[in-house]
Amino acid sequence: MGLTKNILNQKILSVEIRKPKLVSGKGTLRKISTKKKTEFINGMVGEKFIGVERRAKNLIFKLTHGKILIAHLKMSGQFVYQKKNGQNAIIGGHPIELSETELPNKHSHIIFKLSKGVLYYNDTRMFGYVLYYPSLKTFEAENHFIMYGVEPLSREFTPNYFFESLKNKKGKIKALLMDQKIVTGLGNIYADESLFEAKIRPDRQAMSISSKEAEKLHKAIIRILKRAIQVGGSSVATYRLLDNTRGNYAREHKVYGRDGKKCIVCGKPLKKIIVGGRTTIFCENCQS
Ligand SMILES: [Zn+2]
Repeated sequence: MGLTKNILNQKILSVEIRKPKLVSGKGTLRKISTKKKTEFINGMVGEKFIGVERRAKNLIFKLTHGKILIAHLKMSGQFVYQKKNGQNAIIGGHPIELSETELPNKHSHIIFKLSKGVLYYNDTRMFGYVLYYPSLKTFEAENHFIMYGVEPLSREFTPNYFFESLKNKKGKIKALLMDQKIVTGLGNIYADESLFEAKIRPDRQAMSISSKEAEKLHKAIIRILKRAIQVGGSSVATYRLLDNTRGNYAREHKVYGRDGKKCIVCGKPLKKIIVGGRTTIFCENCQS
């Protein structure tokens, strides 16, 4: 959405909610909640927008202090940002004719006054919603998607967490390792190397992975990341950078970049496939 970059880093000075129904819940049978309205306003004023992303049909606005706003435009919602100097408004979402000439208008139900302009949520039919969550935890508890996984070298990344995260997931193990929702910061190289070390095929369905295998893979991920940091002389905070560079760790790659070469364990040629849109190298003989 074009207005995203315009609202980033802007402080929310005030929030006016004209239709509390829209911030009270999802679905058509929403009851107006004064509590939700108050929470919304008190929670947002003084914070800044620090990120906007799209998940399925939801827009997720990330705010300072871990606060989150989720919006679903449904059939007739739109966000409009108007700069203070009155320049052309930036519209994202469904078109509403009146918003081209008049702001706010009778369809403007939530109005955020920002430091450099005003953000409007307009909706002609009012099926959309904009919900406030005080923390990532409250957000994840209510929404069926998890925003981010844990850091691989943090205490939260345990074998049990890893197995539990994989066991109900649809998709191939390598794709899930790389999509950041279970564990963050694992790039293509480390995913391939870890799977080789754990003797797991990168195209295995995640839910078919046993707790023993998850434990092995967990151990491999940690060992490989620590080793990469060690030889790269890098700190934990910058290990991601290693994935994109040809640091010293490149000399230790067992599968990555070795398509067609002999497997260092069994001597058979390594195979190349595509998983999750990424080139993937593995040993058909050693990994199952
Ligand atoms: Zn092999």
